[in-house]
Amino acid sequence: MAKTYDPQNIFAKILRGEIPNKTVLETEHSLAFHDIAPQAPHHVLVIPKGAYVCYDDFALEASEAEIVDFTRAVGEVCRMLGVQPGEGGAGFRLISNAGDNGLQEVPHLHVHILAGRRLGRMLPLPE
Ligand code: 5GP
Repeated sequence: MAKTYDPQNIFAKILRGEIPNKTVLETEHSLAFHDIAPQAPHHVLVIPKGAYVCYDDFALEASEAEIVDFTRAVGEVCRMLGVQPGEGGAGFRLISNAGDNGLQEVPHLHVHILAGRRLGRMLPLPE
């Protein structure tokens, strides 16, 4: 069953043009924009335009066209940032937080593309 989507979340407002964003790439089904509080020299968020709460929701419910568009948008942004390893770039990290344990802040699917410095451990050691 699809999750309940809150249309008042901040990324839904960005998609409706109600609050501004610094767009990196817009495609038919996806939008990429700079994170408002970057945690690395490159910190871009990629979101689908459809109402999906988090990654599993999108992966199970989205159309093939949306999934292909979103996946290609992530690749295109990596190319635009020049961070592709093996092609002159120094690499990047993709993160998609989901739910309470994932510490997801905004309940609209997004992947973080982080790059431009060595990013340290994937996860902090458990407290
Ligand atoms: P999450 O914790 O949900 O994975 O990440 C949410 C991200 O959205 C955070 O990195 C935060 O800085 C970013 N963010 C929150 N509000 C805004 C906003 O209004 N504009 C932009 N561009 N990013 C935002």
